[in-house]
Amino acid sequence: MIVSTQKPLDQILPALEGGNRVFIIGCAKCATVCKAGGEEEVFRMQEELTAAGKEVTGTIIIDETCHMLRTGRDLRSRKEQVDEADFLLVLSCGAGIQSVAEASDKKVVAGSDSKFLGNIRRFGQFEQRCSLCGDCRLNETGGICPVTVCPKGMLNGPCGGMEDGNCEVDSSNRCAWVTIYERLEGQGRVENLRRATPSRDFSHKRHPHNLSLKKE
Ligand code: SF4
Ligand code: SF4
Repeated sequence: MIVSTQKPLDQILPALEGGNRVFIIGCAKCATVCKAGGEEEVFRMQEELTAAGKEVTGTIIIDETCHMLRTGRDLRSRKEQVDEADFLLVLSCGAGIQSVAEASDKKVVAGSDSKFLGNIRRFGQFEQRCSLCGDCRLNETGGICPVTVCPKGMLNGPCGGMEDGNCEVDSSNRCAWVTIYERLEGQGRVENLRRATPSRDFSHKRHPHNLSLKKE
């Protein structure tokens, strides 16, 4: 899921200058799970904006704000409230915010910061395990991502700073490469590490990406 956090009100209010009426949009998927833009957060934002002297013309939680067709359809279903608003304030990831910006000519205000693609450890705890590098190396590393889990993204580790199995960047964390070694050793595959991993092909990181599952 995309982990996002809500911007503080003192960053949102300046973006709403020049207008008084706001329509608030949340997302029922990732932004709800990370409590950046679910029902509760949208309701709280409505209260905070009202207390700050703004008029909230309406609110909506879209099922998946990143789904552009659905977002357009849902906003049309609330046309009157949207039309009354000077701003559409969106509490979702950046992809959702841009769906709204494409679906409406209204001024769109981002109410959240997108942080990372996250695994859910348990409720309210998210961990970054993949940086979407586009050139996955997990087959060589026992399923542990060196690009993400190692702060230096080293493909051949450990670096010289590893101490007692811990990472030099944050000694409270195990070195990613020690973890990879231990995983491969447990699987009888430590020989994997005798081969140097080729450097990354950064052309995979070029963006914007598009993918169509339609057959040519
Ligand atoms: S190598 Fe790491 S960052 Fe790249 S795709 Fe695989 S898990 Fe994601
Ligand atoms: S100690 Fe290990 S995890 Fe930390 S930066 Fe060096 S190789 Fe990466």
